[in-house]
Amino acid sequence: MIWKLLLEEYDYQIEYRAGQRNCNADSLSPYPVQCLNVNLEEITEERKQKIIAEMHNCPIGGHQGIRKTIERIKLYISWPSLEQYVIQYIRNCITCQLNKETRPNVKLPLTVTDTKNAPWDKIYLDIVGPLPLSENGMKYILTCQDNLSKYFIAIPLQTQTAEEVANAFVKNIILFYGIPTEVVTDQGSNFMSHVFKRVCKLFKIEKICTIAYHPESNGALERTHKTLANYLRCFCDKRLNNWDEWLPFACFTYNTTPHSVTRYTPYEVLFGRNANIPGRLQRQPQPLYNFDDVVLEIKHKMQNCQQIARERLIEFKEAQRHRVKSNEYDFKVNDLVLLRIENRQKLDPLWRGPYEIKDIKGSNAVIQEVGKRKHQEVHINRLKPYFSSISENAAV
Ligand SMILES: [Zn+2]
Repeated sequence: MIWKLLLEEYDYQIEYRAGQRNCNADSLSPYPVQCLNVNLEEITEERKQKIIAEMHNCPIGGHQGIRKTIERIKLYISWPSLEQYVIQYIRNCITCQLNKETRPNVKLPLTVTDTKNAPWDKIYLDIVGPLPLSENGMKYILTCQDNLSKYFIAIPLQTQTAEEVANAFVKNIILFYGIPTEVVTDQGSNFMSHVFKRVCKLFKIEKICTIAYHPESNGALERTHKTLANYLRCFCDKRLNNWDEWLPFACFTYNTTPHSVTRYTPYEVLFGRNANIPGRLQRQPQPLYNFDDVVLEIKHKMQNCQQIARERLIEFKEAQRHRVKSNEYDFKVNDLVLLRIENRQKLDPLWRGPYEIKDIKGSNAVIQEVGKRKHQEVHINRLKPYFSSISENAAV
């Protein structure tokens, strides 16, 4: 079903590109793949918009924020004032405006965690849920994040029983990525269980740290959960019953986007090269010399970026202690705004609107939903500016 949706995204391009050069379509046959011919003069305005759309709107774009989208595009292509194009594009994206946290709570981590030297020296595990029951009977997510590379894995689960959690951990994490040296979990019964401990013993994972449940004490994984929730809100359909099918796409998007602190993609720190991205920005294949060269080169690159990633993480943790963030907007009467929805269910949109500000009374604002009569008074903290999209204006 997801594939049908994905293909719908691309249908237009398939027709449009008929007859054009279409490299290695076999290896990724569900996607129309076009190799990137880097000739900046040939990038038309239309093509620029399409590249941004592809790196932002589509499932592997993931409706990520401005900085992340820019950094991700720059891995493949760049043109003068690329930043301005992306800022303009995303500021007007309706999906982002309705579904995203734009004022992240910057909380200081209670514990300053150590930073490991190699990927998979230390991983964090957690359970997210319960979520709305999916069509495939899934209700929970087992999440895993590596301390150094920030590589992120999310596995849908039907239940959170110790057996299912341990089984998913072995089959989807250990057997794909190898055995971690150290595992950190909270004190949830699924991780404290006899079964889970036995699994760890079987794979000679010597150190299992359990920390009392405290979201702040594992800030990194909590922030990643927010990113994941943002992604799912943008792509799940209204009934929210297919979130599990979007999970792998969300992880791919996360892992192939430069991390805000390490400035490398988690994928590159873990595997020593960047992932090829299906679609318009497909890379030309690199020439191969012989296997020894390839292995040496990857090893060299990995050591290099792992070391730099580590330095940047340490630097960030230091700087974070002094960070102050201001979120004040200067609202005025007649401004269009979105209202944060309270008491919502997980994965529901975060914002409703647009509303128009009718009056401002101290820290409250009187707002009226556009096209409706009712006025309501809300605290200004629940509002953020709304930017109408160009295409929407054109349709009105
Ligand atoms: Zn968006």
